[in-house]
Amino acid sequence: MAAPVGAAPASGPAAHPVESRDPATGEVWRRFPAATSADVAAALATARRAQPAWFGTPLRDRARRIEAFRRALYARRDEVARTISRECGKPPVEALGEVLVTLDFARYYASRRVLRVLRPAHFTGATPPMWRKRVRISQEPFGVIGVISPWNYPFMLASAILLPALVAGNAVLLKPSEFTTQSGLLIGELLREAGVPANLVHVLPGDRVAGAALIEQGCDKIFFTGSEATGRKVAAECGARLVPCVLELGGSDAAIVLDDADLEHTADGIVWGRFSNSGQTCVAPKRVLVHQAVYDRFMPVLAARVRALNATTARDASEMGPLIRPEQTARLRGQYDDALARGAEVAAAGPSDAEHLFPPTLLAGVTPDMRVLREETFGPILPVVRVRDDDEAVARANDSAYGLSASVWSGSRSRALAVAARLDAGSVVINDSVIVAGMSDVPHGGVKASGSGRAHGVWGLLECVRTKTVVEERLPRMRQAWWFPYGAGTRDAFDGAVAALHGRGLFERLRGLWRARALLRRPRS
Ligand code: NAD
Repeated sequence: MAAPVGAAPASGPAAHPVESRDPATGEVWRRFPAATSADVAAALATARRAQPAWFGTPLRDRARRIEAFRRALYARRDEVARTISRECGKPPVEALGEVLVTLDFARYYASRRVLRVLRPAHFTGATPPMWRKRVRISQEPFGVIGVISPWNYPFMLASAILLPALVAGNAVLLKPSEFTTQSGLLIGELLREAGVPANLVHVLPGDRVAGAALIEQGCDKIFFTGSEATGRKVAAECGARLVPCVLELGGSDAAIVLDDADLEHTADGIVWGRFSNSGQTCVAPKRVLVHQAVYDRFMPVLAARVRALNATTARDASEMGPLIRPEQTARLRGQYDDALARGAEVAAAGPSDAEHLFPPTLLAGVTPDMRVLREETFGPILPVVRVRDDDEAVARANDSAYGLSASVWSGSRSRALAVAARLDAGSVVINDSVIVAGMSDVPHGGVKASGSGRAHGVWGLLECVRTKTVVEERLPRMRQAWWFPYGAGTRDAFDGAVAALHGRGLFERLRGLWRARALLRRPRS
């Protein structure tokens, strides 16, 4: 059986063990037995048994555990950040940033403002024939939610789904990425420390086999965050079982630089957005579209910043580390080689002190046929395109299979807002980048091949509940006007009711009312 919160499964037939490796050195520092399908089934059964009591716990108490998670995380922030950094290869300050964002999420999902959303709503039906109805809308948990997570923000992204799922009264099975198991296990450990019942949350190490088992074994809803290719498989599996799913997939976000932008500030923002986390961020700017009037001035500013980046495997000094695995580097190199073979030029390249550390790279002369524009690039490559005007910038930005996020850089608020309104993207940031995914109160998610559904904020919380409606008749002994029998005059009387409700002018409405009275005088069938 899969072990509850925070522990690796104790037994199970040999599924591929998963390894935590230090991306800087390749050193394997921990191995975990992977959860088998039987482990997942057992965890699901245990979680399902534990869930009703959790939902029966007053909402305020559930929120208190989330707040306790926040305090426990704050106390252990160094350890958590070190683990994230060691598994992902990101600089310690960025790992701490991930902890900070998770602390924000915990505070948000324990707050009264959010809890109000989960309280039942009571009201009277809106239209006159429904004035006799008392309505109660409640937000009920799905039961057991399956969370399948990626490795690039292994702690924050999973927590930002687990916390609302739990506060809404669900149990959770978390399948962390096979590259970042320890970060996932820490979430479970901290939840247990916070008083969340041990059987309610199960962290299940493993690769795609364990991920697929979450769907096959019958989780009631799936939250998948990962690549487009896997997202399509997950969507197909969920579709075949009619299991609802939220898909947070890849992106190829455009950064649009207008001719009135502050170029120094813009270069700082775009370079941070693209190269932090070694370019492995879903909402990073992955294509820069620069207005032709400033292109020649902007490129040297951008190039200088790319060259100045301290890209090194010496983690404590690093502004940019290696990619998580050699396979990622190989894929990025393929995209880079394709661009150069089709005529792109390297406008700047930063340092690298190891073969597996892909140097931060600025590409100019890129054309729409190149893979760096057509595909998601998940690493430190930044292609730049010259555009004529705002219209071309919008057209090029939208010429992508993806639609996750985008950024607009401009000195004019109205112009930036006008451009933002025309972009096919789940979110747009003006004069900043990336940060939208770290704002606890802001919905996050994409359009087109970037996925469907929303995480974070109230919107993410509402994805964790199914809305239930109870409509109650206030006068239970009084028959309804639309019930059987349909006699000879019923249709005409009903038309009178329609006119009474929607007729033009008072006279037509009153006449309709007079005709409609026959509805109430019909005999029982
Ligand atoms: P991935 O698709 O390779 O793996 C994601 C998770 O899915 C892992 O836990 C993996 O084990 C699991 N998995 C793999 N095959 C599966 C299957 N058939 N059934 C069920 N689960 C399966 O993605 P990754 O490489 O871990 O993450 C990088 C990708 O995630 C990038 O494309 C990035 O843009 C995207 N991403 C998106 C967001 C977002 O919020 N939109 C956030 C972070 C990352």
